[in-house]
Amino acid sequence: MDFRFQIVGLFGAPVAENPTGVMVEAAFRDLGLRWHYLPMDIAPADLPAAVAGARAMGFRGFHCTIPHKVAVADLLDEFGQSAALMRTVNCVVRQGDRLVGENTDGKGLLMALDEPVAGRSVSVLGAGGAARAICFELALAGVSRLSISNRGADRATALLDLLANRLPASMRAGLQVELLPWDGRHAVRPGSDIVVNATSMGLFPAVDERPEPDLSALRAGAIACDVVPNPPDTAFLRAARDSGCRVVDGLEMLVMQGALSVELWCGERPSLPVMRAALAEAFRDAAPEASARAAMPSPG
Ligand code: NDP
Repeated sequence: MDFRFQIVGLFGAPVAENPTGVMVEAAFRDLGLRWHYLPMDIAPADLPAAVAGARAMGFRGFHCTIPHKVAVADLLDEFGQSAALMRTVNCVVRQGDRLVGENTDGKGLLMALDEPVAGRSVSVLGAGGAARAICFELALAGVSRLSISNRGADRATALLDLLANRLPASMRAGLQVELLPWDGRHAVRPGSDIVVNATSMGLFPAVDERPEPDLSALRAGAIACDVVPNPPDTAFLRAARDSGCRVVDGLEMLVMQGALSVELWCGERPSLPVMRAALAEAFRDAAPEASARAAMPSPG
């Protein structure tokens, strides 16, 4: 008999409002695994001790959320390809006695898209942490053009510089990256195949907020994605659907990045319907006052 549990967790501050554990625990139960996911509030100054503790106690891995996604990189042994390039980690995986940093945020979007993106032209609205992960992952997947539009010029320029300085030269050769001007609203490159809302506009409780680019400029039948998971049917996606776009919502992205984390940790592929249902139920049950608590600043 072995009465132990395998432990993974979430390191962040705050973590109380992050619902990732709901879907991850549901996945473990469904797989019949004696694993648990522990959300832990960790102040920035305590992060080194927390990572050392995770090593000492044999944690199988942990998610990192705000404010640890960048700082944790200095405490790890190895990195997956995209995490190494962007030096931003949202998922740590134990391999033997090594801690490996991965980033599943952008991969979650690619999985939710569920079609090849190589050669496509993508307009990304926003330049924060989610936009960064998405841009790197799209670049690694071989898109031909990334057009970035952000309200604040500083963050937009920083993301452009990061892509220019960190992507391998072989990858930069086939990729055009540009900043589109902000004139009070986000812009898209005419003829884009895909547009991604990577801002937090529309996140509960600001459900009526949305970026307002000229969606008629997109290629006919373009795909519109939103990172906002709660509510999943955002004002941006409703407008995109009305313009004839296929839409991909942020709940699906969140489920996909969570499923990827579970697979990285335990080597088994979790049930997507089980994870989707657990998360949707958590959001549904948390209404209306508590649903503010279910809305995450930065899940995963
Ligand atoms: P950041 O704070 O790093 O970035 C926020 C972005 O939104 C910035 O580009 C910011 O622009 C923009 N923004 C916010 N409010 C406005 C506004 N009123 N008008 C114009 N632009 C605005 O946050 P993250 O990138 O970490 O998170 C963004 C969203 O992604 C959140 O809703 C989060 O929940 C979601 N997310 C979803 C995931 C998923 O799996 N579905 C995974 C990770 C994140 P500026 O620079 O000008 O301030």
